[in-house]
Amino acid sequence: MARVLIAGAGFAGMWAALGAARARRDLGAAAADIHIDVVAPTPRLCLKPRLYERHAAAFETDIAPLLAAANVGYVAGTVEAIDAPAGRVTVRMPDSATRQEAYDSLVLAMGSHTVPPPAAWRAHIRMLDSTADALDLHRHVTALPQRQPSPDRYAAAVIGAGFTGLEIATELAGWLGDLARESGEAARVVLLDRAASAGATLGEGPREAIAEALALTGVSFRAAASIRRVGPEGILLECGETIAAATIVWAAGMRAHPLGATIGHTDTEGRLSVDVMLRVNGQPRIFAAGDMAKAAAAPGHATLMSCQHAMPTGRTAGHNALRVLAGAEPITYAQPMYVTCLDLGPAGGLVTHGWERSVLWTGAEAKAVKRIINGRIIAPPPADADRALQAADPTPLPAVGPEALADRWRALLATV
Ligand SMILES: Cc1cc2nc3c(=O)[nH]c(=O)nc-3n(C[C@H](O)[C@H](O)[C@H](O)COP(=O)(O)OP(=O)(O)OC[C@H]3O[C@@H](n4cnc5c(N)ncnc54)[C@H](O)[C@@H]3O)c2cc1C
Repeated sequence: MARVLIAGAGFAGMWAALGAARARRDLGAAAADIHIDVVAPTPRLCLKPRLYERHAAAFETDIAPLLAAANVGYVAGTVEAIDAPAGRVTVRMPDSATRQEAYDSLVLAMGSHTVPPPAAWRAHIRMLDSTADALDLHRHVTALPQRQPSPDRYAAAVIGAGFTGLEIATELAGWLGDLARESGEAARVVLLDRAASAGATLGEGPREAIAEALALTGVSFRAAASIRRVGPEGILLECGETIAAATIVWAAGMRAHPLGATIGHTDTEGRLSVDVMLRVNGQPRIFAAGDMAKAAAAPGHATLMSCQHAMPTGRTAGHNALRVLAGAEPITYAQPMYVTCLDLGPAGGLVTHGWERSVLWTGAEAKAVKRIINGRIIAPPPADADRALQAADPTPLPAVGPEALADRWRALLATV
């Protein structure tokens, strides 16, 4: 009896499990005996793109019924080591004991974490990496009105002006603004980055639209900010200035799970090099997906640490992990279509088209798209085998031009 083992129950792991289950169904007798198991600390999918949301209905969802419906097993535990030559992983179980789990095909989908701040700063900083982080931020912000009035009570500083930093800074501008108004105070949000412009990692395309949104929401951007220390007094910059704020959020980039580096070549973000089948280079039995993998999505363009890439790479890796065990040809991964959708708080949203991120929509229309993405598109399929396996089709969406993309979104918006 062969076994596909999937490490991780995030976007890539969940879709790898469903992809493998679909391949098992499609391949019939040749695959009927192959077992599929997911190993993760919890069977709850953290909806990371929603962690910044002040009004999110939920930050995570239980996928145990979905896995069961697809006849995928679940092992509660944390993978601590990979023994590739022996084909097994060491798993730390919830009772702290360790167990060896054997595999014939392994999918690595253990995601990424925010690059941590220096340990001495941690007590003064909030992060947005997990459900616990988002709940902690909610508790903190909603308790601010109980504090003594002070100029810093409704002040926030966000460190890192990439995708997550922009979303949480603009969300806080609206959130703190509403709280401050109730007591006749003012809110203040500062976004700091080493770079010269906000959203620099998103390139030239959306730069102006982002600057306009920051201006509209009252978020001030500190370029070329070099931080000496974060402490109870706030953020001390190298230039000697202190930025005092009751709320400090750290959004300084992501690093892939460190276990990837123990079995293959990784890039500066810790992502494993994989081939077009999403097989880890030099590891015939191991596939990687989501934030752990750096795959070619389109000519000249690699996948990014995003749900947009985690879900399809998961599906393909799951299909292939099972197909190779059933003696079927693996399928190739490609994802030519690329869009970006940012929530910019009270300024609405921003939707871009293509790898150059040409601005397609801003404002309320773009925000409505973001709501559909966060509320519907990234949500797991229902715990119904037929519907879940249908959704695990690995065929990529064809690349379309901006007009066709706008039509596609309009059609979706009409269904809301
Ligand atoms: C605040 C924030 C906002 C974001 N916004 C967007 C957005 O708007 N659009 C977008 O496309 N992307 C966004 N992203 C990125 C996106 O969430 C990630 O790219 C995506 O979650 C990656 O999926 P993944 O399955 O690779 O990893 P994850 O979703 O991180 O899942 C990893 C899984 O592995 C499990 N795991 C971890 N360690 C182990 C271990 N040792 N053993 C076993 N299991 C383990 C975890 O419990 C989890 O189940 C955002 C991320 C953050 C943090």
